[in-house]
Amino acid sequence: MIEIPHRRPFMSNIDLHCHSIISDGVLSPSDLVARAAGNGVEMLALTDHDDCDGLGDARRTAEELGIEFINGVEVSVTWRGKTLHIVGLGIDPDHAELRHGLDSIREGRMVRARLMADGLSRAGISGSLEGAYAYASNKNLIGRTHFARFLVEKGHAKDIQGVFRKFLVHGRPGYVSHQWAELNAAVGWIKKSGGVAVIAHPGRYDLSAAALKALLAEFIEAGGNGIEVVTSSHTLDMALRFCDFAKRFDLLASVGSDFHSPSESRMDVGKLPALPAGCRPIWEAFG
Ligand code: AMP
Ligand code: MN
Ligand code: MN
Ligand code: MN
Repeated sequence: MIEIPHRRPFMSNIDLHCHSIISDGVLSPSDLVARAAGNGVEMLALTDHDDCDGLGDARRTAEELGIEFINGVEVSVTWRGKTLHIVGLGIDPDHAELRHGLDSIREGRMVRARLMADGLSRAGISGSLEGAYAYASNKNLIGRTHFARFLVEKGHAKDIQGVFRKFLVHGRPGYVSHQWAELNAAVGWIKKSGGVAVIAHPGRYDLSAAALKALLAEFIEAGGNGIEVVTSSHTLDMALRFCDFAKRFDLLASVGSDFHSPSESRMDVGKLPALPAGCRPIWEAFG
């Protein structure tokens, strides 16, 4: 009998970036996986910001529903004064160094949240710390989106995007610049825990071509593996551009909706356009 080498069957619906209530999404990990299954997802990674607590529940539901589940996390990083997000896929959430790293980022979030509330209070908005925490199901993971939901509730802007523009971006009263993890450290935690590291939504960082090349070089030097090519904040042109960067820098290409909420997000989980031809998909690295 001819022996056919094991090959992952062709999969058309893969989503490797989304959020649950463990960070700033609105669905529980189980409900998120169920929604993904309903949308036909065959392989899913849950990638909450700086926290792995949703992975157990998500995996159990994925097993029940017959979805291949990948452990993920989205790590907050500061590089040359900019905030970048590095997605880890296939990580071991119990790995000590990764755990300690994420613990320290979450502590920093609590400190930042108090400073954000002070800034909003100086702008005449009181009660935002308690208000934001009321939207955070996971009290260990507080972020700008929780503040945004509170500010919308209080009528300070009509939607989340508007509230970010008015209050939560650089130069606005609720913005506090913050030092997240070092790029090298974040990639190191992901790699040491058995995962692959991916630069999330590279089109969102407003980097010059030279800065992007420097970032990719440093990321690869640190052991980084891939970049997101298809994601909700990328236009088709951006996807083609980052597919080209992936090829030139020999990086794997990832795909992820970055879904947070049915009413707030631009793209539903599992509703992604196809990866452009020619770049190598990151799931090749999953074995
Ligand atoms: P944080 O990590 O707490 O600074 O919050 C970052 C999160 O805020 C991102 O993951 C998005 O979910 C959300 N976010 C950032 N910028 C915007 C924006 N302009 N509009 C809506 N949501 C945003
Ligand atoms: Mn988010
Ligand atoms: Mn992100
Ligand atoms: Mn995300």
